[in-house]
Amino acid sequence: MTDIAAPSAVKELMSKYGLRCRKRLGQNFLADANIVNKIISSASLESDDVVVEIGPGLGVITRAAAAGARFVVSVELDRALLPALEETLQYFNNIHIVAGDAMDTDFDSLVQTEAGCRAPYKLIANLPYYITTPLIMRLLLNRFNISLFVIMVQNEVAERITALPGGKEYGALSVAVQYFTEARYLFKVPRTVFIPRPDVDSAVILLSKRERPPVKVPDEDLFFRVVRGAFGQRRKMLLNSLAATFDSISRERMKELLQGSGIDPARRGETLGLGEFAGITAAIHGEIARG
Ligand code: SAM
Repeated sequence: MTDIAAPSAVKELMSKYGLRCRKRLGQNFLADANIVNKIISSASLESDDVVVEIGPGLGVITRAAAAGARFVVSVELDRALLPALEETLQYFNNIHIVAGDAMDTDFDSLVQTEAGCRAPYKLIANLPYYITTPLIMRLLLNRFNISLFVIMVQNEVAERITALPGGKEYGALSVAVQYFTEARYLFKVPRTVFIPRPDVDSAVILLSKRERPPVKVPDEDLFFRVVRGAFGQRRKMLLNSLAATFDSISRERMKELLQGSGIDPARRGETLGLGEFAGITAAIHGEIARG
């Protein structure tokens, strides 16, 4: 089986199948076997694992995953890649490629239909950059039965997702992802290993789904509204951001609610941990319920 994770092989396949990298679809193909191996070993695959991949491209990650897992289901939006995938994946009988959009795929039923699997599965992907954040949020909010995510994203997004309170990268995305998963920054990937070369470096992160969120909130939608509100105007103090977000609560009352939750109203959103956001959510929830 020829090595396809090399620049010459990627170029050869593209020319053979008349492919052009479609920037609009975030097509930057990985051409480095060492990075492919590092991604796969980060997923700690076991022989009965089912893997979902988003965006197989030319199949470099797909076939490395198939070598270690029971079954791989991979969703590709660009139908023009399908003939090339047929060639690169021809020696595997445990891969199913679906032509579809990851933004509207029901992954649980796909895995059930194609792999006969109801158990948690793993997601491995070099994600298309143009939809990274909405895609990750969709995968988390829909509560698909994914136990572990090993995903390559832009380095800056990886830093934001894994950031801790206090830093400039910490924001609504960090809180949302860390509410559902334990997020770890694994390693940086230089832009030089892709064809075509993107403008920025990437990084691989590991998200392990939590059995339950680390904090209790009375209403998740409200929790995320509080978080978005707190980060809405980054330089503003919390009191101002939240008073602007919840205009049914007076500024004076919001101040009391924050103080009652043990939080200095002059703090800024980027200094708050998940527990503190949960505390504010509970206070605002109580206030709204009291009318
Ligand atoms: N996995 C390949 C690799 O590592 O070389 C390709 C990764 S490339 C960064 C992203 C892939 O996602 C492309 O193959 C692209 O066509 C595909 N893609 C883009 N948008 C998609 C979507 N909405 N649903 C599924 N696949 C998508």
